[in-house]
Amino acid sequence: MTLPTAPRELELTDTRRRARVPLPEGALSVYVCGVTPYDTTHLGHAFTFVQFDTLVRALRWLGREVTYVQNVTDIDDSILARARRQGEDWQALGRRETVRYLEDMRTLNVAAPDHFVAATSVIPEIRSMVERLLELGAAYATDGGSVFFRIAASPHYGELSRLDRPGMLEIAASQDDADVDDPRKEDPLDFALWKGWSGSSDEPAWPSPWGPGRPAWHIECSAICKRYLGPQVSVHGGGADLVYPHHESEIAQSELATGRRPFVHAWLHTGMTRMDGVKMSKSLGNLVFVRDLVREHSGDAVRLYLLEHRYGDAFDWRPADLESAARRMSRLRVAAAEADRDDGARERFVAALADDLNTPAALRALDGAGGSTVRELAGVLGLTLSGADLAYPPRMTDDDAKATGTDKDQPSLKPDESWGQGTDSTHPQSATGQPVERVDEATADDIGPLGRDELPQTPTRDEKNS
Ligand SMILES: [Zn+2]
Repeated sequence: MTLPTAPRELELTDTRRRARVPLPEGALSVYVCGVTPYDTTHLGHAFTFVQFDTLVRALRWLGREVTYVQNVTDIDDSILARARRQGEDWQALGRRETVRYLEDMRTLNVAAPDHFVAATSVIPEIRSMVERLLELGAAYATDGGSVFFRIAASPHYGELSRLDRPGMLEIAASQDDADVDDPRKEDPLDFALWKGWSGSSDEPAWPSPWGPGRPAWHIECSAICKRYLGPQVSVHGGGADLVYPHHESEIAQSELATGRRPFVHAWLHTGMTRMDGVKMSKSLGNLVFVRDLVREHSGDAVRLYLLEHRYGDAFDWRPADLESAARRMSRLRVAAAEADRDDGARERFVAALADDLNTPAALRALDGAGGSTVRELAGVLGLTLSGADLAYPPRMTDDDAKATGTDKDQPSLKPDESWGQGTDSTHPQSATGQPVERVDEATADDIGPLGRDELPQTPTRDEKNS
């Protein structure tokens, strides 16, 4: 690999400041909000994760040290609701959909983050963050064992979204787990940190000082960032639909709990993927799935199609655009096999990356180049040039299932065949398989009194009411 002779400072658009900002010096931390595994990966998800994968590849190529963390929200109202509807165990559903997500990412050559962390693997960290917020008076426990964040305690609430109160109320009311009318809340915009157990036997619960329950959504990302990246993060990203309430709430929780501000140096948001001008969403059912696209096209072609759009721009799905991306991919493959030819391509490519990760311009920089230049620069964009599909892993046969004692319809994740085990794939393990706590990252106080690996329990009624 040849590094560009004069690496340029890469600037990114920070949503909070509504401005292009250079990245901090030194090692960088990147956190991206991951999937809630109850449904198949659609093009909008793919756009986000391909763009951030490209950002991390580009930063590393430019010589920056990066730690990349992504979560998987493996406990959530939507998972429980879907599992209930399908008469399925919530963990089995989450595991299966996580495997499918990892398969989809692999077809698009999205590299594994350094840590792929399940929400259920950081329950002690979540609990200790909630405790800290309660101590500070920034949260309150209510009947039923729920804990809510008090937005009145956050002096900067609203700085990221720049929404006024009616604007926030309108969005909050439209959320899947809308609870603006919950009479236990002091303010309809207060949000759940911990959800007390409902008493339903198919709903998991973890013990806590406030009663058995489970973590709410926003706190999971704050806790994972703190554990794996520390109190401040260089780049935090996700789809633009996460700005409010998810990221707004992450800022409020994290800055109060850690006492450090800003929580995030650069907030990056990917534009929404639309069909006929309407945002693709599970609730509307207007989705295009990655696995349908890669039946017709290589993963490279789908990835190139996504990179033809800038990360912050919304775009409309048009099949003809993917067709033309596939033809462009074929031309790149041919160029890669030709004699070396640069003609300033490398310089234009680096300038394009520095320009707020301008992937369409980076692709244009490859036009006219040949040989090793194309191979190297295409690789920075995560294009394999192999021409082959990065096939889904073969389906497990009945014989395989018998031999390995695995349920073939509910494949277990193996670190060697995917990103991880649906949890952190790289955290050091002791010989007993228990995670080894790293004192540089977390103190005993951070971890709390209970083990990191504890399993959810379904408490008895008595426990709940005690
Ligand atoms: Zn998140």
